[in-house]
Amino acid sequence: MHFAGNHKYYVYASCILAAISAFIALVPFYDMWRIIKEVLEVRPNFNEAIHIKSYGWHAVLFALLAMVFYIAALMCSHKAAFRVQATMRTKMMEHIMKLPLGYVESQGSGKIRKIVMESSATTETFLAHNVPDKVVSKATPIGLLIMMAIFDWRLGLMSLIPAIIAFVLMFTAMMGPKMAEDMKQYQNALETMSSEAVEYVRGVPVVKTFGQTIFSFKRFKEAIDEYEKWTLDYTKSMMKPMVCFTTFANGIFAALIIAAYLFAGNTITDQFILNLFFYILITSILTTTLMKVAYAGESQMLVEDALNRMNSIMNVQPLPESKQIQVPSDASIDLENVSFTYQDASTKAIDNLSMHIKAGEHIALVGPSGGGKTTVASLISRFWDVNEGSIKIGHVDVKDIEQKELMNQVSYVFQDSRLLKMSILENIRMSRPEASDEEVIQALKDAQCQDIIDKFPDGVHTVIGSKGVYVSGGESQRLSIARAFLKNAPILILDEATAFADPDNEVLVQKAFEKLAKDKTVVMIAHRLSAITNADCIYVLENGHIVESGKHEELLETKGVYEHMWHQYNQSVKWKVQKGDEE
Ligand code: ADP
Repeated sequence: MHFAGNHKYYVYASCILAAISAFIALVPFYDMWRIIKEVLEVRPNFNEAIHIKSYGWHAVLFALLAMVFYIAALMCSHKAAFRVQATMRTKMMEHIMKLPLGYVESQGSGKIRKIVMESSATTETFLAHNVPDKVVSKATPIGLLIMMAIFDWRLGLMSLIPAIIAFVLMFTAMMGPKMAEDMKQYQNALETMSSEAVEYVRGVPVVKTFGQTIFSFKRFKEAIDEYEKWTLDYTKSMMKPMVCFTTFANGIFAALIIAAYLFAGNTITDQFILNLFFYILITSILTTTLMKVAYAGESQMLVEDALNRMNSIMNVQPLPESKQIQVPSDASIDLENVSFTYQDASTKAIDNLSMHIKAGEHIALVGPSGGGKTTVASLISRFWDVNEGSIKIGHVDVKDIEQKELMNQVSYVFQDSRLLKMSILENIRMSRPEASDEEVIQALKDAQCQDIIDKFPDGVHTVIGSKGVYVSGGESQRLSIARAFLKNAPILILDEATAFADPDNEVLVQKAFEKLAKDKTVVMIAHRLSAITNADCIYVLENGHIVESGKHEELLETKGVYEHMWHQYNQSVKWKVQKGDEE
């Protein structure tokens, strides 16, 4: 209802219409009773039963009317349901846009997409169908109770006994808190299996290359086993209650026949037979109602689970907005005693780290994997907020810089450049939407992308990812450098890609980097040490600490970690060259 806004009135209207429909649907049964009554009264002179026809039409009319009301109820509920679904998606996306970028990165887009799209879709089915059905299933027994007062109440009571047993069975065995927990586990098992399946598909090349089987994907196999176990356990535990429920729900008439024997005694009157007929006919409604309640109950559990999943996103706090917004005065970066621990992690990723980078300086972050290089870069761009200490850009705490302004100040070139399925032109323009075509093309040229554009007949209008269009890793990194050119932010964070080190591309990327870095403050996460020998300062990070810092030559002289890394790096380069010569 919170998401429904004014559309909640449609939900109310739908409930009222559904209730009216449920009451009207009982009228044809009364007509059938009247028909049987007349037949019994006039027998054996059946041609005296002159009202049968009008009773029949009356029944048809009310059956149709009940349907019309039900359809109207569904129309209202659908209108509300689609609106709620759309509002949920919009509100969630608005919220996600305010969340720390690091959160979105760490959750993975697949999981977030699933919650935003599928969980909201679950609420659609529930609101559109199950809510009106639930009203019907409540209104029908009330109508039946009223009717019972008119007809033989003893038979009415008898017909309720199996219905009540079915109901109790349903609530204890098929709904209860244990079932809600099971449902959650089922959803979890399904979610794990799906995400492991994605991992598996991604890993297919590895599997094929090394001739492995699915069993080498232990986690995927475990996820399937877990799902299988859950499904089998659940199916088995449901077997008895479900069979009993279905038997009782469909066997109400049997209870009536027993009741007829008990109550009728020796004198079977027309009136009694008439009432018996009436109740036997009407039990079909009870059965349908019970089935509807059962399904509505299941989808209610699903929808509660879906709402919990959505709340897991909605409850994540956005980065706090500062009250004293300031504009950075230059492109310097200062980290002062910064500590940062990832959520759920036990050790600090960054531990009491300080770093002062003047505007226009080029610095490099090196060190072993897991040392904290990416984390430092993410903190400067405020993907997360620091736990202790402060980070300043242009002498202003990043927390006091407006998000948009901060993004104007900093360009981040990721290792894996995210190119979207649109034209090259539009992909680049994303970094500055108001840029003209000419400016985009200039940025592409500056980023040494001319060869990529020349390769395709449609040039800059080629849609990335469409048939026959393939850009290599190195090419796509150059395209993302073009984005940085277009944005032209004074601070540049480069995560150097190591994966695509073909020589031609490396030269082009290097050229593009050099041009881009000119007159900018640059923080470079470097893997090829040869690329950073000219850096103003090199920081060696290990376990979240700076273990060494200084210029290339200074660091070589200290004969510490960097010197060792440099030595190893040169060894590997030499090895590559020698191997190349031998070949
Ligand atoms: P580097 O870039 O030097 O390889 P990172 O900054 O990626 O190092 O990692 C620093 C530490 O933080 C590592 O111990 C790593 O396991 C941890 N870490 C990185 N990203 C996350 C994350 N999203 N959640 C939890 N821990 C993380």
